[in-house]
Amino acid sequence: HERSLIIFCNFLAQLIVNNRFIRKMEQLVHERTSLLERSLYEAQLLKVRYETLAVIDELTELHNRRFFFPESRAVLARAIRYKEDLSVLLLDIDRFKSINDRYGHAVGDEVLKDVAALLKAEAREADIVARFGGEEFVLLLPMTNIDGALILAERVRQKVKKLNWQVDEHDISITVSIGMSEFQPQDNDNMSEMLDELLKQADTAMYYSKQQGRDQVTRYVDVACRV
Ligand code: GH3
Ligand code: MG
Ligand code: MG
Repeated sequence: HERSLIIFCNFLAQLIVNNRFIRKMEQLVHERTSLLERSLYEAQLLKVRYETLAVIDELTELHNRRFFFPESRAVLARAIRYKEDLSVLLLDIDRFKSINDRYGHAVGDEVLKDVAALLKAEAREADIVARFGGEEFVLLLPMTNIDGALILAERVRQKVKKLNWQVDEHDISITVSIGMSEFQPQDNDNMSEMLDELLKQADTAMYYSKQQGRDQVTRYVDVACRV
C-alpha cells in the first residue's frame, strides 16, 4: 500500500506539473493570437490607407490622375455607347507661382485646398473632379454638352475670384483660366485616343485663355481654327 501510494503521489505531482505547463502554454497562445490579430488589423488599415493614397491627392483630397484616367475611360465608353453628351473642363490657377513666392508654400497649399473644395461643391456628384497637376484641375462632365459646361465654368470662374485669403494684412485673391472641349462621336472609337484628344483640346483652349489675358473661359470649338 505504501509503495502504491508513493507511485500515485509521483503520478499526481506529474499531472499537476503538466497541467500548469498546459495552462501557461494556453496563456502564451492566447497572447500571441491577440498580437497577431492586432497586427493583421493594422496591416488592413495600412492597406486601405495606401490604396486610398494611390488614387486620392493628399493635399486637396480630390482624385488624382491615376484615378482620373480609368474612370474617365468608363464614362467615355458610356457616352460612346449611348450617344450621350460629355464635356471636359481644364482649369489652371493664374500666376500661382507668385502666391508661393510672395506668401510661402503653406499659403499656396491653402489656396489649392480651397479651390479644390469649391470645385467639388460646384460639380455634380456624377462629375469626375481631379487634381491633374500642381495647380491644374480637370473636370469630366457626363451628360453635359458644351453649353452646360460653359455655365459651370463661368460660375466657377466668378466664385474663385470671390475667394479671399488674409495673410499678414495682405488681401489675397486669385483668378483662373479655363479651357473646355466636347465629345464628338467619331467613326474611330479608340477610347484612349479620344480621351487624350479631348484633354488636348481643353488644354489648347486653356492656353488660349492664358494668352488672351487670363481670368477667362475658352471653348475649343471657338479657337480650333486659330491655333
Ligand atoms: P500661369 O498663369 O501661366 O499658369 O502661371 P503660374 O505661375 O500659375 O504657372 P507656373 O506653371 O509657372 O507655376 C505653377 C506653380 O505651382 C509652380 C509651383 O511652385 C506651384 N505648385 C505646384 N504644386 C504645388 C503644391 O502642391 N503646393 C504649392 N504651394 N504650390 C505648388
Ligand atoms: Mg498656373
Ligand atoms: Mg499650370
